Amino acid sequence: MSLLDIHVLGSPILRQETERVDSITPELRRLVDDMFDTMHAAKGVGLAAPQVGRRERLAVVEVDDVKLVVINPEIILSEGTVKGEEGCLSIPEIYADVQRFAQVTVRAQDIDGVWYEVSGNELLGRCLQHEIDHLHGRLFTDRLSLLKRRKAMKEWEDEKDHYPKLLRVLPVGDLPPE
Ligand SMILES: [Zn+2]
Repeated sequence: MSLLDIHVLGSPILRQETERVDSITPELRRLVDDMFDTMHAAKGVGLAAPQVGRRERLAVVEVDDVKLVVINPEIILSEGTVKGEEGCLSIPEIYADVQRFAQVTVRAQDIDGVWYEVSGNELLGRCLQHEIDHLHGRLFTDRLSLLKRRKAMKEWEDEKDHYPKLLRVLPVGDLPPE
């Protein structure tokens, strides 16, 4: 296993549209494994390819006992709205309430390329929406009111000094036990 460096707010790749995944290669499978390892080490519940400097339209999600690889995902159903606190592995230490759909159904391909549907509310629903946003160059701070976004960006001004190359390098000591 290996840990990938996480791009933080300011890194241009976080703002780029991803590219549709057309074939599942051994290299792509390794990327997914590394993304799970990286997400675990960073104690996150979701990680999208642009966050590790990649252009593929894919993300990994793990909420409670639900572990998902979402390739080429799309929200096909949504219901209601709800506000809840959100953070992002690419914007460390910054948290804010974000309005999202209360429930979503997502259609995506798994690591074997098979299409499936998953429905989620609460943390899973929020996480799916957050990761799909990443795949289209959007960050949770984009969804804040102007005032709250300014506050978050002000906090980030101080925080970002910890990431001189806009990369978050995870300490190897954070590796989970095998
Ligand atoms: Zn994020």
